[in-house]
Amino acid sequence: MLLSAQTRLGALGIVLAAAALRAQPLPPDVILSNGKIITVDERFAIAQAVAIGGDRILAVGTNQEMARLAGPNTRKIDLLGKAVIPGLIDNHMHLLRAATTWTRELRFDGIESRKQAIELLRARAKSAGPGEWIYNIGGWTHHQFTDNPKSFTREELDQIAPDNPVALQESYYQVFLNSKALQTFGIRADAPDPPDFVKGSILRDAHGNPTGVIQGDIAATRPVAARLPKVAPGKLEASSRALLDDMNRAGLTSVGVPGCNADVLDIFQKWKAQGKLNLRIFCIEGAAAGAPDQVDRSLEQISRMKLFQGDSYIDSIFFGESVYQPLHDPMFALKSDPSPDQLQQWRRIAMEIAKAGLPLHVHAELHNTIDAFLDQIEAINQEHPIKNLRWTLAHVNQINAPQLERMKKLGMYAAVHPWAVINGGIMQEGFGDGAYDMPPLSTIQNSGIQWGFGTDGTAANQTLPFMTLYFAVTGKMVGGAKIIRQTISREDALIAHTRKNAYLVFQENNLGAIQPGKLADLLVLDRDYLTIPADDIKNIKPVMTMVGGKLVYEAPPIGDPSDNVQTARPHFRNPVNSPRRRKRPH
Ligand SMILES: [Zn+2]
Repeated sequence: MLLSAQTRLGALGIVLAAAALRAQPLPPDVILSNGKIITVDERFAIAQAVAIGGDRILAVGTNQEMARLAGPNTRKIDLLGKAVIPGLIDNHMHLLRAATTWTRELRFDGIESRKQAIELLRARAKSAGPGEWIYNIGGWTHHQFTDNPKSFTREELDQIAPDNPVALQESYYQVFLNSKALQTFGIRADAPDPPDFVKGSILRDAHGNPTGVIQGDIAATRPVAARLPKVAPGKLEASSRALLDDMNRAGLTSVGVPGCNADVLDIFQKWKAQGKLNLRIFCIEGAAAGAPDQVDRSLEQISRMKLFQGDSYIDSIFFGESVYQPLHDPMFALKSDPSPDQLQQWRRIAMEIAKAGLPLHVHAELHNTIDAFLDQIEAINQEHPIKNLRWTLAHVNQINAPQLERMKKLGMYAAVHPWAVINGGIMQEGFGDGAYDMPPLSTIQNSGIQWGFGTDGTAANQTLPFMTLYFAVTGKMVGGAKIIRQTISREDALIAHTRKNAYLVFQENNLGAIQPGKLADLLVLDRDYLTIPADDIKNIKPVMTMVGGKLVYEAPPIGDPSDNVQTARPHFRNPVNSPRRRKRPH
């Protein structure tokens, strides 16, 4: 099945090259010039200008070279010296699930002060009707508050929102509830814990009064999240739109998505048909068996599974992210001990995936789990070679050099999701000194394996790609504490978030670099990623985000108060969405 997909990609490449040749006399729709175009091509070339026609990049070069291509209707955008990079790709974010709660959540991504978080809470309490939930589901840590890195108390949340239940989930580690929320859940001094809460996860004082803190790990936080209201079906579309807008604003243009839930995927399919889908979605799918008696059903599903039926806007590309649920490392677990029985079930399923010729993207975090999976994969590889299937281990914060060597021999890839960006403090408590090598970024980079960045957001981690790049280059987590010792260069970090990730979502012919023939997904940045102080990387903001030649985000104007969105920087106004957009010959 994969073979046919690759053949299809190959054929597409030839068609595109031919179209580009024929199309060459057609002038570009838009030329961006007078910039610093960080192409992230194989040579990491820097150019001045880029020409775009339809949804693709036509040419990259000097201002003069691009100016010569211009026709009478070519829109010219003066970049005023700004840096341009390819659109950023997150290879693993639970994006479609997030759409079902996004506009109801009070997100703390990128909020650096506790004061500001409190202000957001107050504002939400003011605008929410009495009894309406105020909540978020992960993506933050109290360590990110540089003014006062303190968690929240029940009393404080009561004072801010006396009439609303409040639940603030810190990653998958703990949840802070106010009295109204405790009351709603029936958590009281004189009552037993609700049965679905993990024993001991509801923290109580000496008198048995619940403190408002639910603590432990993903299993401890799950009963709270399960009780929180999602957006109403009639508002799912608006929530999905707000989510995509936030991602474009942050600089993301493509996302690998474990679990593409049908309700949101239908909306995205509709938008795609209307030319309104502003983010590329690459699904990682498959229902993992939870017990031995579910394995046969899983095998049957795999034998019928069809990937690569979509296009460069929506496609399904991997089986994942779990093969056999009992071997899914829980977040914050310190050690794993996969049993031979469990591994035997895992192998039956993974063997079927290899036999069906499917790519696999599998959650593998802890040292013992990675070793155990590699043992199985080496055995599977003897029967059904996986060489060209792009099998990928995901998360891999505890990976080491010998494991990377084994993966390279198998033709495997690493999807690196640095949970430490927000969870570094918690991980240090658990792993001690070992946490400083989670993930071992320079070991991964120096191994020569093909690897790319994801966040695993929106609950396990925050979602902002420039925060991940800052972490990779400085070794610092949100809030600024140095949390890993193995850092990498800003060039390597950017490559891992663009070109390498294009490979990890099977789009290397289309995405990941600013090169002739590739899709015009790019970001104009407010400052130069390559030269600003490393500590500023997290503060980089796209001024403009383009997906397939279409302007999908433009920063609001700064400065002159007479400016407004309509008149400021007219040279950035949607260059390609204009009526004179024409079809290129095929
Ligand atoms: Zn995972």
